[in-house]
Amino acid sequence: MPSRLRHEAFIFDLDGCIYRGNSVIEGAPEVVEALRGKGRKVLFLTNNSTKTPRQFVEKLARMGIAANDADIMTSSIATSKYLRGRRRGRGIERGREGETGRGRGSCYVVGEEGLCAALRSEGFELLEEGRAAEADYIVCGLDMKVTYEKLAAACVAIQNGAKFIATNADPNLPVEGGYLPGAGSIVRLIEEATGVRPLIIGKPSPRIVRMALERLGTTAGETAMVGDTLNMDIKAGRAAGLLTILVLTGAADMRAVSSSRVKPDIVLDSVAGLSTLI
Ligand SMILES: [Mg+2]
Repeated sequence: MPSRLRHEAFIFDLDGCIYRGNSVIEGAPEVVEALRGKGRKVLFLTNNSTKTPRQFVEKLARMGIAANDADIMTSSIATSKYLRGRRRGRGIERGREGETGRGRGSCYVVGEEGLCAALRSEGFELLEEGRAAEADYIVCGLDMKVTYEKLAAACVAIQNGAKFIATNADPNLPVEGGYLPGAGSIVRLIEEATGVRPLIIGKPSPRIVRMALERLGTTAGETAMVGDTLNMDIKAGRAAGLLTILVLTGAADMRAVSSSRVKPDIVLDSVAGLSTLI
């Protein structure tokens, strides 16, 4: 273990790392403050697609952690930025007045407000269920109000040639006392029904980490990734070439670390342990 981490920027996962549900991890606000006090940059990176950056800013504020919208990268923000880049790459800018439907980047969303808001802010047209078959993209995240009709509309659109994009593939959502189905469970249902694999934007894809680096203005070598999941946070960080720090306040314990093929560079009991390394 290095005696001091000289990294210019730190990317933190949120759930299981900075907080658990609505309880802040002890020492997390102090560590964030200490990093900023030493002139290091901090970015929060979450696969949770349901909320807007503003909603995360408010949640962090209630826990004593100051942040602004630009300090938060969600899988919804990353997905909308990825799709914007794809649209630019194809020379398709925003549709002309009155022009709708296929070919201009129209989306049918299986997801919640965080995802819809992110796509709208990049100028994407969001189609109603009745017009889903015209969509260029089926964009799927966690949707706690998902219905059979919604899933069916997404499947039909994919059969019609819509590109299948997933914000993330976390199979479950940890809550107090157990797990709820996560975005990945919904994504897998569509995948199973259509036989089409989605393009996944969130962790463990290094794609979202590269977007975070772009936001920070740092290189992979200058940046550390801190998170609680081996198969999401640590895998993504390693794939993008960052120093990886696993905290044991969430999904993983030491037994998981020793049996996993994904090895973090550093393991800490909690994010509070970072204070002795910076
Ligand atoms: Mg987590």
